[in-house]
Amino acid sequence: MFISTAFDSGNIEVIRADRPDDIRLNIRKDHASDFYQWFHFKLLSTAEIEHRLVIENASGSAYPKGWEGYQAFASYDRDTWFRVPTSFDGTAVTIEFTPEQESVFLAYFVPYSWERHLDLVQWAQQSAWVEQKVVGTTLDGRDMNVLVIGEPSEEKRSIWITARQHPGETMAEWFVEGLLEHLLNEDEPVARQLLEQCVFYVVPNMNPDGSVRGHLRTNAAGVNLNREWATPSVEKSPEVFHVLNMMDEVGVDMYLDIHGDENIPYNFIAGAEGIPSYDERHAQLEAKFRAAYLQATAEFQTTYGYDKDEPGKANLTVASNAVAERFRCLAFTVEMPFKDNDDLPDPYQQWSDVRSQQLGRDTLRAILAVVPTLR
Ligand SMILES: [Zn+2]
Repeated sequence: MFISTAFDSGNIEVIRADRPDDIRLNIRKDHASDFYQWFHFKLLSTAEIEHRLVIENASGSAYPKGWEGYQAFASYDRDTWFRVPTSFDGTAVTIEFTPEQESVFLAYFVPYSWERHLDLVQWAQQSAWVEQKVVGTTLDGRDMNVLVIGEPSEEKRSIWITARQHPGETMAEWFVEGLLEHLLNEDEPVARQLLEQCVFYVVPNMNPDGSVRGHLRTNAAGVNLNREWATPSVEKSPEVFHVLNMMDEVGVDMYLDIHGDENIPYNFIAGAEGIPSYDERHAQLEAKFRAAYLQATAEFQTTYGYDKDEPGKANLTVASNAVAERFRCLAFTVEMPFKDNDDLPDPYQQWSDVRSQQLGRDTLRAILAVVPTLR
């Protein structure tokens, strides 16, 4: 039996792997941090016999409640992923299944590799509407890619979308892939209407180093980028530093920051109700976007989500709050589930890469509805 993590976003530590019915594992912590929950590894063993894999340190992970009702993903070809029976006893997570082939990959959610990211950026720039920008480099030396979509002009609204500040939330980049496919489709009327009125600035991956390192939440320095937006630095958080610089250059009229939530089995958004400048106009804009989002897709709901911030009590180190305050603009954190959307459960796949892509597409229609009122 062989277990390997020596690839893009690999993460697991083997405690014991001498018998298929009692494989013992730990998830490795993010470098220079205590966060962990993302796992991704290859198992080479014997097909057609029952395997039992126990992640012993699950209860010490960043979101222990995230394991309740959670099912792990598996794939034979690294293209099609399916859920496998998984349980949590309050201490350890146990995955029990019978592989049909001798080698299988397992992951916390459908991985989105750095290679796929590079493919996405190169594919996007084939469009006459797209300009690719590199705004800086990460601590490990990777590009910070921003796609500029549409011809910039004074009259047009600047719509910013960032994804994967938290690298283990791979659904965020699947969401962006779906959104881009729709936005760059010349036969898609919603896209054409949007690009007549807006320029999109899209960062498909805000945390390349954390992604490749197999982190849940932090970059190469062990920093949670979504707590860096008040005072980003080249030393600790160049990813945020460079993107915020470009935001200052071109402006922001609307911002969506795309995430995944370990606990809550719904799609939801978090607004900026706690920022100092929040006023009636901002509240009405937020309400308009929520209503448009409900119209755009049955995957969205407004019943479940995070508790609202008290007036003036927003955490201004968080991207969507910081951007809403700095640019006096509409800004949301968008959250998708790791588990399922309990409003529309799918027992086979639960929440998936494909559904994340579809939500990305449908989000464009909700954006279109608020564009005329953004300024
Ligand atoms: Zn997140």
